[in-house]
Amino acid sequence: MKRSYLFLITFILLATSLVAQINTNEIQQQWDIQQCSKSRIHHHQNLSKAGNSTFAGANMDIQYHRIHWFIEPSQRFISGSVFTRFKITQGPTKIINFELESVMTVDSVLYHGQNISFADSLPYLVNLYFPNPLATGAVDSVEVFYHGVPPSGTGFGSFEQTQHNNSPIVWTLSEPYGAREWWPSKNALSDKIDSLDIYVHMPQGNRAASNGKLVESYLDNDSLQVNHWKHSHPIATYLVAIAVTNYAAYSHQAVLNSGKTVDVLNYVYPEDSAAWASATGGVVNSIKLYSDLFIDYPFHNEKYGHAQFGWGGGMEHQTMSFMGGNSHSLMAHELAHQWFGDMVTLGSWHDIWLNEGFATYLTGLTYENSPGTPWWNQWKSETRNHVMSAPGGSVYCDDTTNVSRIFSSRLSYSKGAYVLHMLRWVVGDDAFFQGVKNYLNDTSISFKYARTQQLKQHIENTSGMNLTEFFNDWYYGQGYPTYQITAYQPVWDTVYVTLTQSTSHSSVSFFEMPVPIRIGSPQSDTLIVLNHTQNGQVFAIPVDFWMQSFEFDPDMHLVAQANLQTNVGIQTQDQPNEIAVFPNPFVNQLFVYAPKPIEWIQILDITGKEILSTGFLNAGTHLLNLPSNVTGFLFLRMSSDGCLITKKVIKN
Ligand SMILES: [Zn+2]
Repeated sequence: MKRSYLFLITFILLATSLVAQINTNEIQQQWDIQQCSKSRIHHHQNLSKAGNSTFAGANMDIQYHRIHWFIEPSQRFISGSVFTRFKITQGPTKIINFELESVMTVDSVLYHGQNISFADSLPYLVNLYFPNPLATGAVDSVEVFYHGVPPSGTGFGSFEQTQHNNSPIVWTLSEPYGAREWWPSKNALSDKIDSLDIYVHMPQGNRAASNGKLVESYLDNDSLQVNHWKHSHPIATYLVAIAVTNYAAYSHQAVLNSGKTVDVLNYVYPEDSAAWASATGGVVNSIKLYSDLFIDYPFHNEKYGHAQFGWGGGMEHQTMSFMGGNSHSLMAHELAHQWFGDMVTLGSWHDIWLNEGFATYLTGLTYENSPGTPWWNQWKSETRNHVMSAPGGSVYCDDTTNVSRIFSSRLSYSKGAYVLHMLRWVVGDDAFFQGVKNYLNDTSISFKYARTQQLKQHIENTSGMNLTEFFNDWYYGQGYPTYQITAYQPVWDTVYVTLTQSTSHSSVSFFEMPVPIRIGSPQSDTLIVLNHTQNGQVFAIPVDFWMQSFEFDPDMHLVAQANLQTNVGIQTQDQPNEIAVFPNPFVNQLFVYAPKPIEWIQILDITGKEILSTGFLNAGTHLLNLPSNVTGFLFLRMSSDGCLITKKVIKN
């Protein structure tokens, strides 16, 4: 799922300069505020109900649905029947239940051709009562007939009736908890519907967009048009969807490198069909790219598709994303969900980043794989600035009753994506991509549900690394580091870099990360990765040139900020023949370069009190560690080559 403002931002960024980027970030923050206040209303409306979505159907495994829905797109109304084949997992029992809002009316329940009794229990549960107990392992079936006006204004518009160009449309968007507002279902993130048939009955002149393959289209006994969609892959309940209006239809073909062909079916408003037909073909390259980077498009034997709808964003309904627009970033995002979200579905709303972080990151990968364009760097800059626009917040979703927290664009989307990018940086490209492929191919995950721990395990297996610290810091922990970096080159062949970090949130005391820096001269560039494991770490980096430039994280691998202090450009001689003290000012660590041996060094504060002293030091560069509680002006007194030398330094 993706709200439209995210792709609007991207669109603006692609067309503007660095100056405009600052304004864009301000806009983004304003949108965040709007989003929060809007979503907070939803939050209050849903709070009593959200989070209990695993309650229904706990004693059964859903195997199959055959669904008939009757839709008149000018009316906010649905009627129909849901046939369910299920297997009892906790018997014996005489009761099963589905989620269905109490404002919806169950007309009857058929079991082996007989009506059985049923009753509302909680506000959104309906119990069905069997005449005899069903044992564990029993496979049986039941059909619920129902109708009603689905409640309005909850979630993201679970069932909406709107208009386009004076033509009516009905569309659904159930994520996360909205399925119960329009059909009797089991919404638990532990049980996928193994396969389903959806028959949508509607007035002639309409088409119904839905999941799977359109296997037949005919008129029923009431001369209603019927579109029969058949989906033969497991599907999470929140990904079942329909949209009905006077759609125009056209297709693209995506030929994968494996030789498979994917039909890309587009259902669009007739008034917009020319514009959409010229835009949607771009998704073909993304289908091929994701298939090459990971595994082949998982539903290639049915279709991929877009169905235009009236929500300001997109929703990754399985095999047919519902789209409020056709920008590259929105199409790339919803397509990515077919692997990350649909084929492998989050096992808990705590793990929302397994859906949204991946979909956001894969959009970035389409830019990375567009050589010669500025988009990849712009995506990285925009995404990590978004993460750092506030000091706290974890990728791990700590409140699944709050829909605005689940779909936090800063945490679940931007930070989730950048944590994947940092994971790739830490373990390397080969281990990252192979680990993600293994995750997608894992038979306990593929076409099922996954938790974050399972992704971590797969990347640990391919990298051979223990990633517990990484996940504690970046997934469960909050915030990001700000580095204090000093880089000094007192002699021709060595650059000394000291690395200290502070963190933006107290939940993480230290981010252990490989920190890339680039030391450059007009003739040469050296990219160096500093393995930062403790504050005040000093790295002596051999070079064969005078440092003319120093950059922190030039390729934007990290969510981090840095304050630099360097002596770039001030050195003039190959070997200084005087004692040099650097940096100045300094924090806790001071270097002393001595061309000749030093007999002793004494450091005094302004009252004359001795802070530190040394004995004999050879010629070369020496590091002095000063106590952190001392600050202000200090004096170094040194004896070398028969001279007494005094230098003034400032300690911060
Ligand atoms: Zn999404």
